[in-house]
Amino acid sequence: MSDKQEFTFQTEIKQLLNILSHSLYQNREIAIRELISNASDSLNKLRHIQLSEEQYRDDVPLQITLEPDKDAKVLVIRDSGIGLTHDELVQNLGTIAHSGSKEFLRSIAAKEKPEGSPDLSLIGQFGVGFYSAFMLAEKVEVVTRSYRETHGWRWESDGTGRFTITAVEGDVPRGAQIRLHLKEEMEEFTEPERLKFIIRKYSTFVPHAIKLADETLNEQKPIWVEPKTQVTAEQYEGFYQWLTHHSEEKPLWHMHLSTDSPIQFHSILYCPPSNFELLGFGQIQHGVNLCAKRVLVQDDSQDLLPDYLRFLYGVVDSADLPLNVSRETLQDHKLLPKLKKVLTKKVLDHLADLSQEQPETFKTFATQFGSILRTGIGSDFENRERIAKLMRFHSTFSSGESSLLTGGLEANAPTPSVSLDDYLKRAPEGQSQIYYLSGPNLDAMQKHPHLEIFRKRNLEVLFLDDAIDEYALIQLRSYEGKDVMSIDGADVKFPESTNPADDPDAKKAPANFTRVVELFRGALDDKVSDVKESSRLTDSPCCLINPRSHMSSRLQQVLGQTIREFEQTKRVMEVNPHAALVERLCALSANSDNDEFIRDCGRQLYANAQILDGLIPDVEDTTSRSLRFMEELARSKSAIVV
Ligand code: ADP
Repeated sequence: MSDKQEFTFQTEIKQLLNILSHSLYQNREIAIRELISNASDSLNKLRHIQLSEEQYRDDVPLQITLEPDKDAKVLVIRDSGIGLTHDELVQNLGTIAHSGSKEFLRSIAAKEKPEGSPDLSLIGQFGVGFYSAFMLAEKVEVVTRSYRETHGWRWESDGTGRFTITAVEGDVPRGAQIRLHLKEEMEEFTEPERLKFIIRKYSTFVPHAIKLADETLNEQKPIWVEPKTQVTAEQYEGFYQWLTHHSEEKPLWHMHLSTDSPIQFHSILYCPPSNFELLGFGQIQHGVNLCAKRVLVQDDSQDLLPDYLRFLYGVVDSADLPLNVSRETLQDHKLLPKLKKVLTKKVLDHLADLSQEQPETFKTFATQFGSILRTGIGSDFENRERIAKLMRFHSTFSSGESSLLTGGLEANAPTPSVSLDDYLKRAPEGQSQIYYLSGPNLDAMQKHPHLEIFRKRNLEVLFLDDAIDEYALIQLRSYEGKDVMSIDGADVKFPESTNPADDPDAKKAPANFTRVVELFRGALDDKVSDVKESSRLTDSPCCLINPRSHMSSRLQQVLGQTIREFEQTKRVMEVNPHAALVERLCALSANSDNDEFIRDCGRQLYANAQILDGLIPDVEDTTSRSLRFMEELARSKSAIVV
């Protein structure tokens, strides 16, 4: 039994260990935080087991102890939690590929600073915190006994690729002791003052006593059950940092709730300052801690907030929840959906207040999390108007419009600032629709022919440069009783008050206009459903009108690419008889030799309109035709200088 078994670390863990043990990283304290956090998790699990299964109850205090030995240069972090069995040691500490290790390696690579010291502080978020022990230790021993077993095991490694497991002779107390054989320059981690400082900094909210000799180092204060007025800004911040493992970070905002009806609960929820998902590391997985009368019942519960609020951290504590509820029965517990409903509404109300009272903070919030939040419009029917209220758009009336035209878009574009409420406040009497234009980017949208009539009538149009925004608005359908409408739609209605006065001198279409329309129709027979005279345009020669008014052609194309059965509707080409090009074509059409040229112009106008909408025209056809146009023009120019 006492034979030593040798194992090889799984490949990514090997890489991770190599980085950790060679890192020059200054902030090595976080290794202590991670090991304490593991000990605390283990104690939480044991407490839960003891509550539901009598045979595991005993008098051993549930606590964490730090045992520094300066002479031996060893620091032991001991807990009386669930411990690990032989198989758990093999699997949890080294051989099973853990998705987190790969992601953590990626995140280090992505954020590597030029001076070459990777940011390791997020290690705990990736579920590989244990390995940070190798930042401090040249050798790590884990001596442990599982609560289900009577004998113990020793796991041992110097972090260079292999580890061993041996059975331990004699009594091993239940739980785990992580024995860190400190590296040469790490002796500070045996100094009591240094350890006290670290615990106060990172682990004061750990819900179990952390002991050094006879002293308890942490406060373990459940600040969420205190009245708001009793909690200091430092405590709120410290609790956030403990929850998130982000030691230097301040939350963007927090809310502290205590209610008795319809259900009793206390809660503190925090919004982080930035959106992890925007860095490209997949979906946020953490949840909210669920407590019953201050005791943690489930960490990272995903059932307390809807998916579109998954970025919030925090704790929810309800006295209505039985302490010994198991994870399985928790899923069906009637209380969770009720809590979720109340919390969701409170968060959305809080955001609405924030937008009024702290516009700058709200702006940051919208930039970081708007993309996640808006997905709620499709999934949360009950709250969709509340969520829509929080969306912000660019529009033809946004103050930044002129700078939009000159500045590049992506990096330094102004943040969208128009809310649906702002929009409706400005809408003239009788406007029954909320107009939007969907396009690939703001520059292209600013110049879109469809806007001409809206500009003429001084009607505001929202710009949607992300198909997801349009998708959200389509699911909303209407806001405050006004239909959401793509301005390329045939059903666009204008408020009467903006109708232009009847102009007796209104210009008539030039002679032969019907001939040009006919030629265009022939050329675009398979592409458009009709060609007609337009009354919408002032300058541009043509635009494409979409018969399916509730969905722009762009979104139809996006859906067409992803859903095979999705049928895109053909559009109607509207031609402006007073555009310079069209007037000239009307004149040229008197000579039937020009027919093919006029048809080509129709085809090219169609292709241009597609491009403006962010759609891709027939590439070969379009490029060869424009080449032909250029050749003809070039031929008609002279090389003689006069
Ligand atoms: P995480 O704790 O995020 O899952 P770690 O790398 O820190 O990732 O730990 C890996 C696993 O090892 C844990 O999930 C747990 O099962 C086990 N473990 C670590 N420390 C302890 C401990 N003190 N007691 C019991 N199990 C532990």
